[in-house]
Amino acid sequence: MSALNFEIVHRLPGTLARAGVLTLPHGVIETPVFMPVGTKATVKAMEPFELEDLGAQIILGNAYHLYMRPGAELVAEFGGLHKFSGWHRPFLTDSGGFQVFSLGFGMEHGVGKIAKMFPGEGGGEQLAPPRLKTAPKLCKVDEDGVSFRSHIDGSLHRFTPAISIQIQEQLGADVILAFDECTSPLHDHAYTKAALARTHRWAKQSLDAKTRGDQALFGIVQGGAYEDLRLASARYIDSLGFDGYAIGGSLGESKADMHHILEWVCPLLAEGKPRHLLGIGEPEDLFACIERGVDMFDCVAPTRIARHGSLYTQDGKVSIRNLRFRHDQGPIDADCGCTTCKRYTRGYLRHLFLADELLFHRLSSIHNLYFIVNLVKQIRQSLIDETFFEFKAAFMTRFNAKALV
Ligand SMILES: [Zn+2]
Repeated sequence: MSALNFEIVHRLPGTLARAGVLTLPHGVIETPVFMPVGTKATVKAMEPFELEDLGAQIILGNAYHLYMRPGAELVAEFGGLHKFSGWHRPFLTDSGGFQVFSLGFGMEHGVGKIAKMFPGEGGGEQLAPPRLKTAPKLCKVDEDGVSFRSHIDGSLHRFTPAISIQIQEQLGADVILAFDECTSPLHDHAYTKAALARTHRWAKQSLDAKTRGDQALFGIVQGGAYEDLRLASARYIDSLGFDGYAIGGSLGESKADMHHILEWVCPLLAEGKPRHLLGIGEPEDLFACIERGVDMFDCVAPTRIARHGSLYTQDGKVSIRNLRFRHDQGPIDADCGCTTCKRYTRGYLRHLFLADELLFHRLSSIHNLYFIVNLVKQIRQSLIDETFFEFKAAFMTRFNAKALV
């Protein structure tokens, strides 16, 4: 008996997009869905009721960070993540694979999945590609797992598939992920292939290590930007009988690469199981990925950029520090239904930001999360109404116009 039930309620003809209903032990989720990231069992600056009010249905916690601090045993002592954090709707935890590798390899080489995932795009200053050095000091992978040093105090730790699953069972999320090796865009085909063989073996070991019947376990498809490896990974992970899938790792060097990867992978995954694309969540990506069959998203971007004063509007992102907002008595976005837009002006928010007031973090996070969570809800409705392409065209035209930037 699975801890998960997934029902597809509507498919958009001519695409792999679908609207679904995902039932988990702590609640029912309508998909496609965007989940706010609560790495350390908190979405930064937000209370659970605020997340519920803005429409969040599920949040993501991180096994690596929670294992480091406060410790998975301590969370278990409080009855698991839901009771510990006060968020009583569904939780998903990732396995720690990405953090072990990104805090090890990524920190040493200046490569992150999100920050510089698309080094050829973005229009900002282009950094020289980091060079592969000798083996990273912070983490060392072998055939059975990964040994790494804590990013907090340098102490030595080890994750294996069995340890990651044990930690995630102690944390008690509704959905947990298999332990995987997350490769970087800098890894060549030969290394990525060897890493994929480990990830596939670890996927099976993750399934074998699972003891709780009230958690759904997703397998992770890896393989970098290499078509043969992604196809092999999708087929193998699909064959193992996971409750759902996550698509992880390097997604190439451009948005086009990411689209190709989804076009290779999604058709090979069992249609009746949910698909989560790890770490992606910019507005234009949501449309493109949903169209290609993705059901679930998580991304730190909405809250991270919010805290730095960058706010989403229907007319693109705006920087609240801009002098033009000094006397502005309108809301961030006149079309937004969030409590920040109902109650506060751009001029006041700009003041809070410039004065480095804590309240700014909360109000800006509420707005950006409301914007993204509800954009995905609108996309879902457009799938059901079969107005997806019209909605996408209208949204992207206006969003990219950047009239206010
Ligand atoms: Zn708003």
